[in-house]
Amino acid sequence: MEVQQKAIVTESSEPKGGVLYLVGTPIGHRGDLSPRAQLVLAGVDRIACEDTRHSGLLLHGFGIRKPLISFHEHNQKQRIPELLIMLAAGESLALISDAGLPGISDPGEDLVAAARNAGHQVICIPGPCAATTALVSSGLPSGRFCFEGFLPLKGKERKSRLTAIAAESRTSVIYEAPHRLVRLLEELIEYCDSTRPVQVARELTKRHEQQVGPDLASALAHFNNFAPQGECTVVLGGAAAAALPPWDEVQLRQELDALIAKGLTASEAAKQLAQSSGQQRRALYGLLHRAE
Ligand code: SAM
Repeated sequence: MEVQQKAIVTESSEPKGGVLYLVGTPIGHRGDLSPRAQLVLAGVDRIACEDTRHSGLLLHGFGIRKPLISFHEHNQKQRIPELLIMLAAGESLALISDAGLPGISDPGEDLVAAARNAGHQVICIPGPCAATTALVSSGLPSGRFCFEGFLPLKGKERKSRLTAIAAESRTSVIYEAPHRLVRLLEELIEYCDSTRPVQVARELTKRHEQQVGPDLASALAHFNNFAPQGECTVVLGGAAAAALPPWDEVQLRQELDALIAKGLTASEAAKQLAQSSGQQRRALYGLLHRAE
């Protein structure tokens, strides 16, 4: 295998030799390949990609011609040591996937771990990611969320993931192939309830971009009428917090007294009872104060 000794020098300080660049590529709209991504892709010695034909077309559209190396889940075991040899020889390498960010439900994670273990610098040139693009455009809470990727296809693993997702209070983001979308929505209804908020983001950044919601029942009804086509990402609202037990002043006061009798201060007792009862710490503290 031919190994170039020197990275190609560009006007910018990027790309640098011996560095692995993870480069985000468009999930639809070609205009989303950033100028920095183009510069790095045009400057590296080699580009590792899932499908050389697919990525070759994208790169060709930007006038980028570089040696391409196929890197996918079936050959990554063999490829990782080869790519590490290139990095050790001072080559600059870019890793791209068919779309979006490498390492997010795409090959990349193992190569990054191996490169880091071998002491090589890894730099991500960020770009589009279907998960975050779907999340922020869903209108569902985005302050805290869980990325689920693709669910296991069947069996116990699938059931336990669905159970966990149904109980999750944060927004969940799930990738799904279009031909399995209806089945996933049916299962989510079974595990969560048909009123659970959802937005199915279809064909993000493309001409026919669409959001389908606002709840599981409506999304399922829609996709039963219009068979899902193209790429889909499911953004599922979190489980509502369990209803609080009713405020029972006498019982709460007794529990506070018991904690104080154990040596806790009023403030510590209110904090501990707030955690176990779900009531507000301040209200519990007020209850103590009022009764004194
Ligand atoms: N690495 C990619 C990323 O950062 O988004 C994800 C790759 S994963 C193999 C492909 C899945 O991402 C699709 O099955 C779909 O669930 C989601 N996806 C990709 N492009 C999309 C788009 N334009 N609109 C909606 N979902 C998309």
